[in-house]
Amino acid sequence: MNNHKKKRDISFIHKIINKDLKKKYEKNIHTRFPPDPNGYLHLGHAKSLYINFEIAKHYQGKCNLRFDDTNPNKKNSKYIKSIKQDILWLGYKWNKHVKYASMYFKKIYKYAVELIKKNLAYVDKLKKTDIRTFRGTLNKPGINSPYRNQTIEENMTLFENMKYGNIQEGMACLRAKIDMKSPIIIMRDPVLYRIKFNEHHKTNHQWCIYPTYDFAHCISDAIEGITHSLCTLEFQDNRVLYKWILDNLNILKQPQQYEYSRLNIEHMILSKRKLGLLIKKKIINNWDDPRMPTISGLRRRGYTANSILNFCKNLGITKQDNLIEMSSLESCIRKELDSTSYRTMGILDPITISITNINEEYEESIQILNHPKNHSMGFRKIIFNNMIYIDRSDFQENPKKNYYRLKIGGTVKLKYSYTITANSIEKDCDNNITKIFCTCNFQKNHNKDHGIIHWISKKQAKKCELRIYSYIFNDKNPNIKKNFLSNINNESKIIYNGFINKEIQKSSPVNTYQLERIGYFKIDNQISTNKNIILHQIVSLKENKKNK
Ligand code: ATP
Ligand code: MG
Repeated sequence: MNNHKKKRDISFIHKIINKDLKKKYEKNIHTRFPPDPNGYLHLGHAKSLYINFEIAKHYQGKCNLRFDDTNPNKKNSKYIKSIKQDILWLGYKWNKHVKYASMYFKKIYKYAVELIKKNLAYVDKLKKTDIRTFRGTLNKPGINSPYRNQTIEENMTLFENMKYGNIQEGMACLRAKIDMKSPIIIMRDPVLYRIKFNEHHKTNHQWCIYPTYDFAHCISDAIEGITHSLCTLEFQDNRVLYKWILDNLNILKQPQQYEYSRLNIEHMILSKRKLGLLIKKKIINNWDDPRMPTISGLRRRGYTANSILNFCKNLGITKQDNLIEMSSLESCIRKELDSTSYRTMGILDPITISITNINEEYEESIQILNHPKNHSMGFRKIIFNNMIYIDRSDFQENPKKNYYRLKIGGTVKLKYSYTITANSIEKDCDNNITKIFCTCNFQKNHNKDHGIIHWISKKQAKKCELRIYSYIFNDKNPNIKKNFLSNINNESKIIYNGFINKEIQKSSPVNTYQLERIGYFKIDNQISTNKNIILHQIVSLKENKKNK
């Protein structure tokens, strides 16, 4: 049993590293997390962070944070700030100072010149669309560009012209001279440098040519002494190019690239570009909207770093692509909140109960545990009197058979208090029930046919907005949908104007609670005011089968 467990705990990457260490290829394990600063981090990145940082930790090695800033974008700085904040919040500390691919632009440029001088790179003046057609397809080999046979001198001059801004964007690029007939399309003379006149967040207008991801990535890894460059499976083909570039440059120590499967979660999109589109199209307000699968969205919703890392741990590191159920993430946070959250009662959709056999002045104080199993979390007092709120869904005017909650002539138990019996109702002109008149039986014991419902005395009720969330996408796998935006769940956010017990904020040290019978909620301090408290539902109490 133990052996079996041990085997499962060691991933294929651990096995590779163990072998490398045994053969003394490597002594100090060095990984890196290389985000493109073009959006906020999401759960997919949490998986990558977990793998890179935990592997470094396991081997007492190091993990760098390197921004792959080869694509100048006005918003880079904003994204860099959020990415750093999210990594620290997850509890990871990168090795020394933050690195940027742009720190190596000079070196990368020199390596490009080295390839030109070795006749392994050329400046292509084909248009972007022609480059694409000349590249061929999986079934059709590519065709050489007419510029492929320029002399080294011609290429040097052209590359310098690119560098000095003498050539317009899109009119030339530097390509590796590999093989236009290669069965691996990426090896059909990939682009190494392109012209972009955008301002760069670090180098401003110093450069107007930028290396592509493929060219910059392997060189940056090598410069930093990365030993194991871990990425997702879609970069499998890029590995051949990664190796080709490093083999053909005067670089002694070569990092090795290994791939693991990308994280996909049901009803979710894990792509910065696509998540950014949800914001641009005003479907979602911001990157940290509590429905977003971003680290900042989950944090705002009430997920803890620990629950996200536990989720990543359960995923393991494999090469199998699969679609993970949302419930695997939810069960991690539910388990944690079950032991840490103070219990309280909240009402989503209130309806007033007037208890007619209790007079206005009567008030009973009830001492209740903050946590049913953990007595060290202390006690709190709630008030019972003649005016209370219950949830509209706990009363039925025309009840079905076996309805155990409140109905005319029926009895329920108010949690922690007495049983009450409903006698009559009051309605407004739209036929909505506004009040239920009940009598209190002053009986704490209840019959098993009586349901137990939650309630709040009007005296202790504080108005609040309770926001209940569901998936943004109706489809189980929106990733494979061509038009993923046509698949939006219009009920992903439902706002209830309800109540919470106003004492809870005073007694709990954290602002995350279990609202009994409803779920776990967190007060959003960023947007709540004294008059309007806003709570996000983190997760329901039990797995919601309806959403499946
Ligand atoms: P996105 O499509 O969201 O922009 P990306 O792959 O372009 O993702 P990068 O910013 O380049 O994202 O990501 C940094 C690291 O995170 C890369 O090593 C990448 O492979 C990894 N990563 C990104 N998405 C996932 C995912 N869904 N599962 C696992 N790892 C991921
Ligand atoms: Mg990307």
